[in-house]
Amino acid sequence: MPPPRRAQRSAAHDLERYAGLFSARTREMKSSAMRDLMAITERPEVISLAGGLPDTSTFPAESFAAIMARVAVDSCAAALQYGPTEGLAITKDAIRHVMAAEGTEVDPEDILVTTGGQQVIDLVCKTLLDPGDVVVAEAPTYPGAVPAFCSYQADVVQIEMDADGMPIDVLEETLDRLEREGRKPKFIYTIPNFQNPGGVTMSLPRRRRLVEVAAEREILVLEDNPYGLLRYAGEPLPTLLSLGGEGYTIYLGTFSKILSAGLRLGWAVAPAPVLSKMNLGKQATDLCSSSLTQHFVSAYFAEGRWEPYLESLRELYRGRRDVMLDALREHFPAEATWTEPDGGLFVWVTLPPEVDTTDLLARALQRNVAFVPGRGAYLDGRGGASMRLNFSGVGEAHIREGVRRIGEVIGEQLELVRAVSGARPDPAPQAPAAPDPALADVLHLPRPARPDARRSDGSR
Ligand code: PMP
Repeated sequence: MPPPRRAQRSAAHDLERYAGLFSARTREMKSSAMRDLMAITERPEVISLAGGLPDTSTFPAESFAAIMARVAVDSCAAALQYGPTEGLAITKDAIRHVMAAEGTEVDPEDILVTTGGQQVIDLVCKTLLDPGDVVVAEAPTYPGAVPAFCSYQADVVQIEMDADGMPIDVLEETLDRLEREGRKPKFIYTIPNFQNPGGVTMSLPRRRRLVEVAAEREILVLEDNPYGLLRYAGEPLPTLLSLGGEGYTIYLGTFSKILSAGLRLGWAVAPAPVLSKMNLGKQATDLCSSSLTQHFVSAYFAEGRWEPYLESLRELYRGRRDVMLDALREHFPAEATWTEPDGGLFVWVTLPPEVDTTDLLARALQRNVAFVPGRGAYLDGRGGASMRLNFSGVGEAHIREGVRRIGEVIGEQLELVRAVSGARPDPAPQAPAAPDPALADVLHLPRPARPDARRSDGSR
């Protein structure tokens, strides 16, 4: 039988046929590093340290079945129906509980339920950005925000973080410079808790100052906070919203990491005029978020077991984080640096500048292991020597093995580069006596806090 007509056309021919039809915006569109990898990492033989996947296998199947049965019995028609664009009151109630757990009180009127937190980023861009408008973001920034910024043709200015997150004095200098150029950012994008991908947390003084700067300069701040409740060490810090940032903060929350990413439910809290424009934007995008999953969330919170479940996730991820940090000390070269996050799902690793993690990924995939190359977290091509590693999505044995394999390909690439450039091979790695802050210069992120935990015999 001849193949269907579609399959006979070449990809090049298709591209040519449709090229003239696309909007100017599509020329700026970019794929997200993680999304590109999703198809590959779904293969069972691949150990993926690439995604930001919560471990949904920990959610008890019996609970899922019981909650779904309750939704079917109590709210079948409503769960199968459209809902209001702003979200169901029962969902907003659950959101208020979650936010209260982080010390943030909100009025249900100020909440917009969205299709994941990702939609908040999209709606904020849709609502605020004209082509060429400036957005200030952290460096590195959330790789999933990059395609949104590109789609809306933003001019993104990235500010390098250090161990305490975005330095606000550098932010202020940047804002001054932009002002001299006659440009004012439409918003500042920050992930204050356990930043994705950087793994660092914005300190309290910086949070306070950021809230002040936003008010003084009348600039909105998009506070992206999927991970605030996933803290494994240290004391919780207040949200920007709760620090008096109501006037200029757009807060992003999500159920993805504390319950389930498959629900596709997140939310925004924003000043009323901003929220109502975002509501209009959402009407055009999807009318409303899933009523079915909103009912699921409501029934789940009514059970009153969400906090113990969250505690079990914290315990699980804390253990996995520790295993990853341990494996990095054992298998990565002495020149590598990485962050030691107090929470969240990611470690950010910076390698010697001669390693290109985009090239490295191809080699790693041949060994059936994946990570997110650092360039995906920048809009200007930087980040080539860095990578994001996730420790929540796979079990401890896989984390160890995945890190071991990546360490192996890094070693090979370093050897190759040094052989080609004539540099002498590295001496056997030594356990460093003390943290060397100069080594953090590549991306201004901190040295591992416990370098002395490397094996004292120098083996790795
Ligand atoms: N913001 C950040 C910083 C994230 O890490 C993620 C998920 N990886 C999101 C937003 C969006 O998540 P979701 O759409 O699943 O709520």
